[in-house]
Amino acid sequence: MKTSSYAAQSATSPLAPHTIERRELRPDDVGIEILYCGVCHSDLHMARNDWGRAMYPVVPGHEIIGRVTAVGPEVIRHKVGDHVAVGCFVDSCQHCDQCHQGNEHMCREILTETYNGRDRLTGETTYGGYSKHIVVKDDFVLRVPEGLDLARAAPLLCAGITTYSPLRTWNAGPGSRVGVVGLGGLGHMAVKLAVGMGAHVTVLSRSKAKEADALALGADRLLDTSDAGALAGAASGFDLIIDTVPVKHDINPYVPLLDIDATLVLVGQLGPLDELFTVPAIMGRRRIAGSMIGGIPETQEMLDFCARQNILPDCEMIRMDQINEAFERMERSDVRYRFVIDMASLPARAG
Ligand SMILES: [Zn+2]
Ligand SMILES: [Zn+2]
Repeated sequence: MKTSSYAAQSATSPLAPHTIERRELRPDDVGIEILYCGVCHSDLHMARNDWGRAMYPVVPGHEIIGRVTAVGPEVIRHKVGDHVAVGCFVDSCQHCDQCHQGNEHMCREILTETYNGRDRLTGETTYGGYSKHIVVKDDFVLRVPEGLDLARAAPLLCAGITTYSPLRTWNAGPGSRVGVVGLGGLGHMAVKLAVGMGAHVTVLSRSKAKEADALALGADRLLDTSDAGALAGAASGFDLIIDTVPVKHDINPYVPLLDIDATLVLVGQLGPLDELFTVPAIMGRRRIAGSMIGGIPETQEMLDFCARQNILPDCEMIRMDQINEAFERMERSDVRYRFVIDMASLPARAG
């Protein structure tokens, strides 16, 4: 079936209307009409080939909320009319140890990304959520729980799970002291989710400028890391710090803030950091770790948790034809805190 989308045709061309072909339903496939799609930093990086592996045309989008329009005969988890979600991947090997444990995102045989991936049967390039329809294997389609606001839920599928997973892995909960570095799409979700889990939450920032924003999101306080006195006073005061900063930066100020055996988790920057001074890590048996999205069971758990706790991203709704402007604004961090595309704004037939 042909469907309309927005695609980048090269690293330098803006996103523009483009018609793509979606596969005929396989027996275990779900056909989905896309209602909303979040705009992630990865979308921009892939469209511009910043990671050197883009396969054009690139149709980005991996924060997808939609409605089931058709199902194959072997589909058991979803039915026509259901509200569903699709995140960063649409397939995996389903037989390695990680897939068996529900850690499909760490599949030993490489997961199939929602866009710019390769279909495991045909080798065709996958196209993402900046489109009217998508076809996804049953096991990789998530349920949108009753009560979750469809228009705001999309960013949970990447920004939400990326921060939920480390909070769960390192047992954030009542009584735990959680720090969040960076207050963008990921950081604002880390704050809301950690608050929802009952943790004591501190935003770590290089000035007091974002204090009102941090408190408005539910954080207990903002720690100004440019204030040497405040930093010294907070030493060994955290059980977990989630660092969401997506560019090269200096983590040295944060390591001494960890308590003994506590963990700093990097979820934003894919690439080098400033040089690390190892003494605080060695002296306090402090850990520096990484984490990437989450598996299907944990992503479902996160959606259910957000519905129960009424946790939603702060979104700015845009039309599909505003995407290039949205990319530019996202680069300037000029969004609170995530753009969501209303797919009703995309004509069924591309121009
Ligand atoms: Zn993403
Ligand atoms: Zn696998």
